[in-house]
Amino acid sequence: MGGFFGNISKEDCVKDLFYGTDYHSHLGTKRGGLATKHSKGFARSIHNIENNYFRSKFEADLPKLHGNKGIGVISDYDAQPLIFGSHLGRFGIVTVGKINNIEELAKKAFRKKIHFYETSGGDLSPSEIVATLICEEDSFEDGIENAQETIKGSCSLLLLTEDGIYAARDKLGRTPIVIGKKEGSYAATSETSAFPNLGFEIDKYLGPGEIVLMTADGYEQRKKPNEKMQICAFLWVYYGFPASSYEGINVEFVRYRCGSALAKNDDVEIDCVSGIPDSGIGHALGYANEKKIPYTRPFVKYTPTWPRSFMPQDQSIRDLVARMKLIPVKELIEGKKILFCEDSIVRGTQLQDNVQGLFDYGALEVHMRPACPTLIYPCEFLNFSTSRSTLDLAGRKAISELEKGEDVFLDDYAKSNSEKNAAMVDRIRQRLKLTSLKYQKLENLVKAIGLPKEKLCTHCWDGSSYY
Ligand code: SF4
Repeated sequence: MGGFFGNISKEDCVKDLFYGTDYHSHLGTKRGGLATKHSKGFARSIHNIENNYFRSKFEADLPKLHGNKGIGVISDYDAQPLIFGSHLGRFGIVTVGKINNIEELAKKAFRKKIHFYETSGGDLSPSEIVATLICEEDSFEDGIENAQETIKGSCSLLLLTEDGIYAARDKLGRTPIVIGKKEGSYAATSETSAFPNLGFEIDKYLGPGEIVLMTADGYEQRKKPNEKMQICAFLWVYYGFPASSYEGINVEFVRYRCGSALAKNDDVEIDCVSGIPDSGIGHALGYANEKKIPYTRPFVKYTPTWPRSFMPQDQSIRDLVARMKLIPVKELIEGKKILFCEDSIVRGTQLQDNVQGLFDYGALEVHMRPACPTLIYPCEFLNFSTSRSTLDLAGRKAISELEKGEDVFLDDYAKSNSEKNAAMVDRIRQRLKLTSLKYQKLENLVKAIGLPKEKLCTHCWDGSSYY
């Protein structure tokens, strides 16, 4: 998915930029990048972070990165930041989102004899396409609007310019940008969890499509926010860091409310509640507190050498890493009826192994309660790792089995009270060998987040989309 951090200060910004960007490491596994602007120009560093931490890859580069303004990114896709020379002046760019019409935009540019560099994977770089669209206009503000209007999908971005840092949220606000401040410094971040330890306080949640220009003295609004918003609901369920807030709503609180809603709609008899680490934990605490049933940890995550959440890109190696990370505790499993909360069941392959392991260790019953409805529609707005491709989704696999290979009646399957939905859930339950499986209802997820449904993107679950 990716996330970014930018800051501008009366003093050198590199330390805050380095740690602020590092605090986005849970959002991407492919590339990390930093760029700073100093009196003589730009400095930049990009590394592959598939096999190592952002921090260990960038520490050695810090002495050459100096200046009082900079942008950084953790990217699940292209190498960033890019530095562009243009009639608007030199600028650096980082982006988060997904451009669905990238080929069409590239063809249009080729007709104008504009060329692009390829990424190392042979694809076009979305950030380069966005920068090119910005350069079609006479100001950064108009250029950003041009890009936002032309792109199908979503794109939030930071621009590092001579005058300051532009922060621009995508036009429907699928991904957040939050402005923070401290004495002599301002920052823009995807995750507010980057702020507390760097001394920043949240000053403003940018609205959808809003553009601001930050300097070390403050920020100016350069475009008002749009009315319509479609912020990604999955941020609260899974991707977001527990200490972060979007639209003023804290992630961990939402997870407690999700768990509590699951508990209120459940009458299963169990001995203990557990969370599948990491994001299942908040949901499970909410469930356990609501039901007043002990929270236990039958799986403990081994973090000293397996700290990253979903590295590397190869799915079979990721499955292996995921399995090696979770160590079962037999004493907490044997003879127990255990209920697990999980953020969502994306593919279910790893869960299948975990459930088998629980029964091998003597669990009497294993119940699963995902904090959101079954994922049926792939995301069209954010770049995720391959594990979220359509055919991999546990729900789609079940539908395909039930419909003899046909991809039909998806809307019926998405309705939580339909017969087809019940058949799909039962098919997933059987595959995972669970005693019971009950998903969160969409209306309860929306209530747990606390925003009106029309302000949330819920496309993953009900297929609804606004462009
Ligand atoms: S489709 Fe799902 S993951 Fe993608 S933006 Fe919408 S809610 Fe988020």
